[in-house]
Amino acid sequence: MEIKVEEKILSANDRLALENRARLDAARVTAVNIMASPGAGKTSLILRTIEALRGRARLAVIEGDLASTVDADKIKAAGVPAVQINTGGGCHLDAVMIADALRQLALDDVDILLIENVGNLVCPTNFALGEHKRVLVASVPEGHDKPIKYPSSFVDLDAIVLNKMDLAPYVDFDLAAFERAVRAIDADVPIFHISCRTGEGLEAWVAWLMQQSGLS
Ligand code: MG
Ligand code: ZN
Repeated sequence: MEIKVEEKILSANDRLALENRARLDAARVTAVNIMASPGAGKTSLILRTIEALRGRARLAVIEGDLASTVDADKIKAAGVPAVQINTGGGCHLDAVMIADALRQLALDDVDILLIENVGNLVCPTNFALGEHKRVLVASVPEGHDKPIKYPSSFVDLDAIVLNKMDLAPYVDFDLAAFERAVRAIDADVPIFHISCRTGEGLEAWVAWLMQQSGLS
């Protein structure tokens, strides 16, 4: 019985996600769901992306956080419209929260909507938001065994961003082992090697994002 109830909840979320998708499509917005563990660099990636796309694409951001508004404040300070969702301890975003946030954005003035999910590799992947692209941010200090420990987070991704590459010489991270583990799950998802600190590799990520949004 419990399983049945859960299925019902999930399909209600899926239905609302489809409605979100229709609203985004009507406004010609490409929405990207960015997932990661806490501290992998989701907000840093968003700030770097804002910087790189200034004058090339109109961005907006939805910030999912357990409690604070620190990340949304940083985005607004960068001059981009941002809506904060505080999940009140909830460990993932869902389609209801996104529907709410979409109402607070002038979608006709947006090309790309970046959605920073709650930092957690377990359940965000189970909740469709209406996004067009699903991106996972992993980082070098987390270790190369993330795809083995959290395989479901690596399923159905459109891109993987491997952040903090500048730390590779200082930590025990085996890039070949990481890529082997990813390829065992997904043979051709693009993997971008970047450092939000130094800026290395960001241009390839941004070019991909522009291409996915039909802007290049
Ligand atoms: Mg953040
Ligand atoms: Zn959750």
